[in-house]
Amino acid sequence: MATTKKAAPKKAAKQTSTPKNIEPALLELFIDEIKDIYWAEKHLVKTLPKMSKAATSGELAAAIKDHLEVTKTQVARLEQVFELLGKKPVGKKCEAMEGLAEEGKGVIEDTEAGSATRDVGIIIASQKVEHYEIAAYGCLTQIAKVLGLNEVADILAETLAEEKEADELLTTIAENDINYEAAEEEE
Ligand code: ZN
Ligand code: FE
Ligand code: FE
Ligand code: FE
Repeated sequence: MATTKKAAPKKAAKQTSTPKNIEPALLELFIDEIKDIYWAEKHLVKTLPKMSKAATSGELAAAIKDHLEVTKTQVARLEQVFELLGKKPVGKKCEAMEGLAEEGKGVIEDTEAGSATRDVGIIIASQKVEHYEIAAYGCLTQIAKVLGLNEVADILAETLAEEKEADELLTTIAENDINYEAAEEEE
């Protein structure tokens, strides 16, 4: 009830030392999620070139191309994480990323080549991908910290920053570099 005294904020519990006994179930979940995002990143290496080619805006095409190179670095970074965990780099199919990539393909099929509408569709699909990645790397960075895997956490945080940057760039492109007026004239 409202009269119950609330527990004091856990100031004393804030210990910065790394836990000696890594929670085995949490570690297992963590590794599974690393395998998921590893599969997802490798899938993006295959699908991003199609998205870039389908874009009309030079800025959008270049941004996606650049992010393809960044994504290859992210794959390598995850391989570094596997190594730190003493595991072989193995992917586990990410149903979400497969679906998001399918949506991207669908938007290209459903829009006219050279249209601003297609570029907008590509931006929507791409931002959905980035948001999935931001959620994944945000959570994984936190879990790595909880597990006391500080080096792994730093590596994942680097990728997280890149995904946020990509998301912001897509917003900027949507605001500045899509020729909406030309699209209207064509109607
Ligand atoms: Zn990713
Ligand atoms: Fe990525
Ligand atoms: Fe996934
Ligand atoms: Fe990304």
